[in-house]
Amino acid sequence: MEKFMKTCYECKVDVIPVVRIEEGIKLYGLKCPKCKEEFYTSSQLLKLERFRDKPKRKFGKLGDATIMRIPPELIKKHNISPGDYGICTSVEDGILIVPVKEK
Ligand SMILES: [Zn+2]
Repeated sequence: MEKFMKTCYECKVDVIPVVRIEEGIKLYGLKCPKCKEEFYTSSQLLKLERFRDKPKRKFGKLGDATIMRIPPELIKKHNISPGDYGICTSVEDGILIVPVKEK
């Protein structure tokens, strides 16, 4: 990640990259090796805000396939029926599924 600061504001010691997993969400920041203070950009904190309180689903296994159940409220909201397709695209934070009607 890009170093948005070189040294700790307090200790003036070089900061080091740190990855913290908060509520299952990976945050990339910088840490002072002396006072242990961690620093994050607002975009990293927004990422946490964006995913907090969202329904979490576990990946499962069905034969050779990795599967995940979609929360029923999302199925209803997007009017998804069995037989519809989902176009999967890799995006920065994960996988985006765009439902497409069969006909
Ligand atoms: Zn420090």
